[in-house]
Amino acid sequence: MVSRIIPVDPFDLVIFGGTGDLARRKILPGLFRRFCADQMPEEARIIGAARSEMSDDAFREMVAEAIREFGGKRGGDDAELDAFLERVGYETVDATGEGGWKALAGRMREGTTRAFYFSVGPSLFGDLAERLHTHGLATPDSRIVVEKPFGHDLESARALNATLAQHFTEEQIYRIDHYLGKETVQNLMAVRFGNTLFEPLWNAQYVDHIQITVAETVGVGGRGGYYDKSGAMRDMVQNHLMQLLCLIAMEPPARFDPNAVRDEKLKVIRALDPVAPHHISRGQYDAFEDQPSYRDDVENPRSTTESFIALRCHVSNWRWAGTPFYLRTGKKLRARASEIAVVFKDAPHSIFGAEAGRHRNVLSIRLQPNEGMTLGVTIKEPGPGGMRLVDVPLDMTFADALGPDAEEVPDAYERLIMDVMRGNQTLFMRGDEVEAAWAWTDPLIEGWQGRGEVPKPYDVGSSGPDDSLMLMHRDGRKWRDIRT
Ligand code: NAD
Repeated sequence: MVSRIIPVDPFDLVIFGGTGDLARRKILPGLFRRFCADQMPEEARIIGAARSEMSDDAFREMVAEAIREFGGKRGGDDAELDAFLERVGYETVDATGEGGWKALAGRMREGTTRAFYFSVGPSLFGDLAERLHTHGLATPDSRIVVEKPFGHDLESARALNATLAQHFTEEQIYRIDHYLGKETVQNLMAVRFGNTLFEPLWNAQYVDHIQITVAETVGVGGRGGYYDKSGAMRDMVQNHLMQLLCLIAMEPPARFDPNAVRDEKLKVIRALDPVAPHHISRGQYDAFEDQPSYRDDVENPRSTTESFIALRCHVSNWRWAGTPFYLRTGKKLRARASEIAVVFKDAPHSIFGAEAGRHRNVLSIRLQPNEGMTLGVTIKEPGPGGMRLVDVPLDMTFADALGPDAEEVPDAYERLIMDVMRGNQTLFMRGDEVEAAWAWTDPLIEGWQGRGEVPKPYDVGSSGPDDSLMLMHRDGRKWRDIRT
């Protein structure tokens, strides 16, 4: 049995940016799947709110199309879709003006859980918070969900936190990082803190190093304008990779509750050393056959923004002293593959002699595709003929273990939205975490900008620029293959 459905209380969910790409691809199909799973109560209401003039019916038609296109295998039948659409409405609202706010306020019910999803560009977050307040919508028990990017640097993140704090308490703010909603990421905590097996080995004494890779095959797509001002460091490392690093490196929290978990994550970020320039490799994808280069994609022939970054960092505390963490992410790479690999040290002495070869335990936590975990263990190669050793994976992939039910596992967005409705902030970033992450990231960016460094070109379909490979070679280590 996979999912025990815990119904949530009736809610009014307003999706600002309800006609946008994120709403259509993720938020609305995710809500529909929760509806089909009987997690959404009868009385739940979803109100799309965006700038476009649109009737309730036209919005429902748009939602139906989005669900047909992006709903995936777990979408329900037409009757379920109709029933879902009865709970959906739309209001034309201008985040930067007064239009539509009164009508929106008129749709909200008293005594119902209230959430506002800011699925709009970050420049509108402050306007929305302000207008929710002036129109009396920011009641003490209402919640806001804020999308990434949360700031562009420490200063802007602080300013945004301060703006939101004028009208909402920290307990009302849900900063989303959808990586935290992934099943495997939560499974990582279960494996670490639910077993006695791993935790005693989870430290510098037994772990040689940790690799975190988030590789994409896509380029910047239609987001060139935004991406070129941001780059891989801001777009991926400051949030997603740092969150994964925190969950891997943190101390066991006393309880699985929001502030206990987030306190431990914050300590990890604050324990990160500055990164030396020679421990950073930045790259930009080159043109390949008929495929454009990064600079073509962003229409900026002199761009020095990185579409790839690899770096080595250290968490300076007792647990991890001397253990390097290697982070790597980029676009147009060999495969779409995200993995955390915990590479354990060699056995202190091989009783089997040099001819048995070198064998290492590696715990691989895959986030995509095929979410799951494998532990590489060394065993005797079966059969006669002496003691030959072979590495085999112990597969902890729940998709296999759980059989056909596995497709019931909710995706990150649907899980996180239900957590908002339940009022559970464990898988959301706290304001001080986001600021600490920028405080670590900013000097690295300022460093390469100050040195006038230009990213190295790399081939589309490769594993990144050569000096990212050197980053590992110099340490006598090797990146794991990027493969699906
Ligand atoms: P989008 O451009 O597709 O949609 C923007 C939405 O905002 C539209 O519904 C538009 O009508 C609405 N809007 C714009 N100006 C408005 C105004 N003045 N008043 C009211 N509504 C207004 O953008 P998106 O891709 O859906 O992204 C939304 C947010 O989510 C952004 O912050 C983005 O960074 C973030 N995000 C998107 C994705 C993704 O996959 N698309 C992934 C992660 C984060």
